Amino acid sequence: MLRARGLRLSAGYSVVMPTNMILLHETSEEKKKILFDSLEKKVSEIVTAVKSHEYHAVETGSLSDRIIRTGILYRSVSPFVKKMDYFFKVDQGCIGCRLCSQVCPAHNIEMKNGVPVWKHQCEMCLSCLNLCPKEAIQCGGKTEGKRRYKNPYVEVKDLMYR
Ligand code: SF4
Ligand code: SF4
Repeated sequence: MLRARGLRLSAGYSVVMPTNMILLHETSEEKKKILFDSLEKKVSEIVTAVKSHEYHAVETGSLSDRIIRTGILYRSVSPFVKKMDYFFKVDQGCIGCRLCSQVCPAHNIEMKNGVPVWKHQCEMCLSCLNLCPKEAIQCGGKTEGKRRYKNPYVEVKDLMYR
């Protein structure tokens, strides 16, 4: 997109965060603290660099990460991701607040009869599952009783698309 406008990316940064993919694993509280501490330092460096218009090589992760995660893993699962919401279900705890549909970046959730219904265009960002205030969204048998992840630096209202 930048190239089409005759521009080039002047800087790019990568920040390691705790995982929100609670279906597979959780980040321990101890590890979260380590990550958030280093995040504050890194963001502060980024802000300083941006303010002074510094050029910075784009941080893209290691070559092995790019080959294994993006090149192989992501490409092999991406055709199935949109349909992964077949595994989502809502339990009795739902209060019909609509928040799940408001935070979905893919507009993949409609409210019907007061409960969410998924439309199979999912990006598997897990916002709906992690941000439901009643933890009423489950995925297969993998999420019941599991602690949800929310970025403590971001307000839910700032994640709402509609
Ligand atoms: S966010 Fe949770 S409680 Fe609110 S409508 Fe969605 S499933 Fe129900
Ligand atoms: S996982 Fe993300 S993209 Fe999929 S339905 Fe939930 S909020 Fe939408």
